[in-house]
Amino acid sequence: MNRRDDAYLQGRLDMIWDRYFSDIEQKNDVKIKFGRRARTRLGSIRQESREHLNSFKPTTIIINGLLKDEKIPEFLIDSVIAHEMVHYTHGFASPHERKYATPHAGGVIKKEMQRRGLEDLFVLQKKWLKENWQKYAAENLPKRSIMYRKPRRRRFSIIFR
Ligand SMILES: [Zn+2]
Repeated sequence: MNRRDDAYLQGRLDMIWDRYFSDIEQKNDVKIKFGRRARTRLGSIRQESREHLNSFKPTTIIINGLLKDEKIPEFLIDSVIAHEMVHYTHGFASPHERKYATPHAGGVIKKEMQRRGLEDLFVLQKKWLKENWQKYAAENLPKRSIMYRKPRRRRFSIIFR
């Protein structure tokens, strides 16, 4: 019985929020769920649109469906959630004031994770992804048809949105 479902994710989000983002007010509903299985995108965060001044549409964090697999270490899920929470903190897909022009430039994610004591998790996930993800994705996702095969020279990159 796979125990990794949306309720499990909610539990991880609550723990990370309490432990590392307790200074960040939850100004709206924040949902989290598993999404489709994807080759490169590990997570994303979105918010439909702002209604009016003081009531905001919910924010939804979506985690790559492949991460349901218990072969994937739990710290990877935590690191994806922490990454999306940094976006929420910086005002991306959240009612918080926008802190930067773009969500990733200038290493703002790593700096914020360092500031919040998440550096070890950041380093650990980077190392695990570098050593394991490409092989894991190749073994657990359907082969891409020749049409979509990327030209050999392009580097394989994993993205967090
Ligand atoms: Zn991101």
